[in-house]
Amino acid sequence: MSFETLFYALFGWFIGVLINHAADVLPRHRALSTVPVCPHCAIPRAPLAWSAVLGYLSRRYICLGCGRPIPFRPVFVELATPLLFVGLLWRYGFSVQLGLISLYSVVLILVTVTDLEHRLIQHVVMVPALLIALVGAFLNRDMTARQAVLGGAVALALFYAMYLLASPVGRLISRLTGRPSEEVPFGFGDVTLATFVGLITGIPGVIVALILTIFSAGLVAAGIVLVQVLRHRYRPLTTIPYGPFLALGGFIVMIYGPEILSWYLRYGT
Ligand SMILES: [Zn+2]
Repeated sequence: MSFETLFYALFGWFIGVLINHAADVLPRHRALSTVPVCPHCAIPRAPLAWSAVLGYLSRRYICLGCGRPIPFRPVFVELATPLLFVGLLWRYGFSVQLGLISLYSVVLILVTVTDLEHRLIQHVVMVPALLIALVGAFLNRDMTARQAVLGGAVALALFYAMYLLASPVGRLISRLTGRPSEEVPFGFGDVTLATFVGLITGIPGVIVALILTIFSAGLVAAGIVLVQVLRHRYRPLTTIPYGPFLALGGFIVMIYGPEILSWYLRYGT
């Protein structure tokens, strides 16, 4: 392993610790500057357990307050982020593009975690992310600034329309089925995340990203219905968070957009 790879892997691990910290404190509206706390009882963690991986290696993973271990997610994020960063380094080399794609990946990981755990895509994350992506549109070497901004505009228009339609459609469905609809199927956070995905994938990539989103969300939704039916616990209209699927579609196209496009131009037309 070269020195550069080791350096970027360590950097990725450090960023993974920061992502976990942000995912723990931001949904509870605490300041980022607080020390890492136990997600169960909010008691400050031992300094060696600020990192979940170090916590497990040093056997400090049991909370002194509530006796519960550090959960699985921080361990996974701390291991997956350096792996991802090394992959990005091998693809882009040390460059502005590497910084940009790494930063975008951090946003996508953080949003995926908070949406899965809290059904939240927070403005405190998305507003700075959108500003960074707007500036990044002029630095991205995979597309022109015009393509990036148009991609963001298309995604914004599509998802804002879906957001406006979501509450009347939800009311209609709850009237037809006679059930109160307590869950919001589509929040404004989804609109901001889609706009971000549009900015980082551009035109025409954003179309592929949205198709991947719809397909992957549909597959998972079908899987959930199948499991519910097999267990005789079918509950119609169980909503699933869209954020992780948007992040996945956006991530795939952000990385492989140029290959997907050249493949399509060669075989698809
Ligand atoms: Zn605890």
